[in-house]
Amino acid sequence: MIKFEQVYKDYPASGNSLRALHPTDLAIAAGEVFGLVGHSGAGKSTLLRLINRLEAPSGGRIWVDGEDITALDSSALRRFRQQVGMIFQHFNLLSSKTVAENVALPLQLSGMQNPAAIAQRVDELLARVAISAQADQYPAQLSGGQKQRVGIARALALKPKILLCDEATSALDPQTTVQVLQLLREINLELGLTIVLITHEMDVIRRVCDRVAVMDGGRVVEQGEVVQVFLHP
Ligand code: ADP
Ligand code: ADP
Repeated sequence: MIKFEQVYKDYPASGNSLRALHPTDLAIAAGEVFGLVGHSGAGKSTLLRLINRLEAPSGGRIWVDGEDITALDSSALRRFRQQVGMIFQHFNLLSSKTVAENVALPLQLSGMQNPAAIAQRVDELLARVAISAQADQYPAQLSGGQKQRVGIARALALKPKILLCDEATSALDPQTTVQVLQLLREINLELGLTIVLITHEMDVIRRVCDRVAVMDGGRVVEQGEVVQVFLHP
């Protein structure tokens, strides 16, 4: 589903540039829950953001679902991004919009115009993440777990094949974390969605990841099944 061939990323900095990701090969299978772990600054966000081309690689090739995404023009890039949903540590909801309006946004931006069709899809999404009762509330009225459910509904709105999670449970208490992880696992199994997640919590890895990559200093230093990487070092 996702394949990196000698992908690297340099950020321009004053004087010399910084290599945030050294040439990396990586393969993530369809339907897999893949974890990225490592210290702050290890290159996890950079790797994640290369998958939906929020960052462009400085070199190498990235294939997603058979398509080379390293050389897309802007309209192809817009189309491609619809296949990749993303959720964030701080949820990134629009505070001036209700839950339903936040979830409707990607549908509207993608060109869906029929209000009844949008409302129906939003209803479906809110029901799936069990947040229907809060449809008309604003983000400030919600708990952290509820906000992340809205984030998940928004990320799923355009029926992506891949869901990227950037520390998606780091701002949640342990009990809420477990609930959100359960929801992600259900969605992964139901929809066959490929999930790539960044975490620094061992419990998150144990509960949901099939495989992990351990990153350090802009390199993947270990890669494999969770049991292999963490129980037989
Ligand atoms: P992690 O997610 O593991 O904390 P990042 O991918 O965010 O690591 O960062 C890897 C390195 O790249 C760090 O040294 C960070 O400071 C640097 N970096 C990340 N984003 C940028 C950016 N937009 N511009 C310049 N440097 C960046
Ligand atoms: P900005 O221009 O402020 O950086 P973006 O245009 O990247 O924001 O994103 C707009 C909104 O859509 C943000 O709230 C962000 O959380 C959300 N978003 C961005 N990329 C995706 C994605 N691939 N899937 C789902 N939501 C996304």
